[in-house]
Amino acid sequence: MPIPTHDLSCITKAFNTKCPDCKCDVYFFSCNCGSKVYFDDLGDPWPKHRCNERNIRKRLELMQDLERRSHDEIYTIIMEFSEDRGYDIPEKYL
Ligand SMILES: [Zn+2]
Ligand SMILES: [Zn+2]
Repeated sequence: MPIPTHDLSCITKAFNTKCPDCKCDVYFFSCNCGSKVYFDDLGDPWPKHRCNERNIRKRLELMQDLERRSHDEIYTIIMEFSEDRGYDIPEKYL
């Protein structure tokens, strides 16, 4: 996916807030060309806030909508998905 270019009139905003999912302190960054990103910290290396729960929940919802899989299959997919990305799986999904 190409990185969106920010033109010269781009105005950026960043403020301290709480992640709506995990309630951690995060920085919300947005600009008027449409970028909206949560960061754990502002500045190099710009660590994006990786919200485990949100990502896993989305994945679960997607699978449940699109496919009828057994619990074991879904569990295996979630495990692989999480390991790929280095996520910890929220306990309630184990
Ligand atoms: Zn921009
Ligand atoms: Zn979060």
